[in-house]
Amino acid sequence: MEMAFYRDTWAEIDLDAVMSNVRNMKAHIGEGRKLIAVVKANAYGHGDAEVAKAALEAGADMLAVAFLDEAIALRDAGFQTEILVMGASRPTDVQLAADMNIILTAPSFEWLEEAGRNVQTGTLAVHLKLDTGMGRLGIRTEEELHKVFSFSEGKQCLNIEGVFTHFATADELDTAYFDEQYKAFETLAKTAASYGDVMIHCGNSATGLRFPDKLVHAVRLGISMYGLSPSSEMKPLLPFQLKEAFSLHSKLVHVKKINKGDKISYGATYTAEEDEWIGTIPIGYADGWVRRLRDSDVLVDGERVPIVGRICMDQCMIKLPSQKEIGTKITLIGSQKHGKIPVDEVAEKLGTINYEVTCTITSRVPRMFLRNKSIIEMRNTLLDGRKKG
Ligand SMILES: *Cc1c(COP(=O)(O)O)cnc(C)c1O
Repeated sequence: MEMAFYRDTWAEIDLDAVMSNVRNMKAHIGEGRKLIAVVKANAYGHGDAEVAKAALEAGADMLAVAFLDEAIALRDAGFQTEILVMGASRPTDVQLAADMNIILTAPSFEWLEEAGRNVQTGTLAVHLKLDTGMGRLGIRTEEELHKVFSFSEGKQCLNIEGVFTHFATADELDTAYFDEQYKAFETLAKTAASYGDVMIHCGNSATGLRFPDKLVHAVRLGISMYGLSPSSEMKPLLPFQLKEAFSLHSKLVHVKKINKGDKISYGATYTAEEDEWIGTIPIGYADGWVRRLRDSDVLVDGERVPIVGRICMDQCMIKLPSQKEIGTKITLIGSQKHGKIPVDEVAEKLGTINYEVTCTITSRVPRMFLRNKSIIEMRNTLLDGRKKG
């Protein structure tokens, strides 16, 4: 395999961290409950195939994604395990899902009816979505649930293998709304179970971490598989140590001394207050290192230094404590020597959640996959096509 990239900016994905988080979660939820590894959105920006492989090796039972395209990509990559598409698919695309043995989410009676009409051969497996208060997708009443089961009974083209819901506030300390949703879920799930054997699941990372006994048959583990806490208020409650898998690095490509009064970057908004050493790094907003991160810190030799001036599309400038060699490693997210910039710090700077930070680092940034601290694989979307050619 060609392991090539020609710009020194990359993300490192620690697969041992992913595996440790999966193993700890498995132990936490106990034998007999399944772990569904959520690898939607390219595994929250980490790399779907590589994370899926590590998660399955660590004991995950099943994969979940948001869209059919993501599931097809995993099948094409050779994954034969069960894959659940949690978002809505077109009812006109269900034959493809049936052919590829991909489980779709049925968000309503009408959807299921139309899906049934579109299965020509084989069986479409579905999980029914129950809307217990998230207000996104799903069946909201017992009446509709009865309708769904009566409709599918005896139909060879449809198989309802599971039912699930999703909580809106599982990561908040106040459990009032969660309790309300859980009650609604229990009622609907009981009705579903009265029609026969179905897999019942309700928990994302937050629910799994806090209420393992409420999961019923499985947890859908997303954010905490990547070593991140579902919210900051949950951090003191974590039942085991999460290991962050994502880090982001670059290297100095240009270093210069500027004089007091000299200006930096678009708009000339930064003025040197004294003679300063300035470094340029080849990462910018087109990589997901967005303009609002101006004035945030990066690590050089383990020390924090600030970004100065506006972040450009492909580059940005940092103020160095002293002259540094070209090629010196810069860490934007993660650990470097005694320093650390966690994903949560970047999220806070942006006024967002950690989920958004790793998803935002674009595919222009190659992903390096580490096991035992060494690179075992690499994905550079720009050049991956060359391997085949
Ligand atoms: C994304 C998603 C999850 C995973 O949630 P985390 O908070 O990342 O663990 C679980 N269930 C559904 C329906 C989702 O869309």
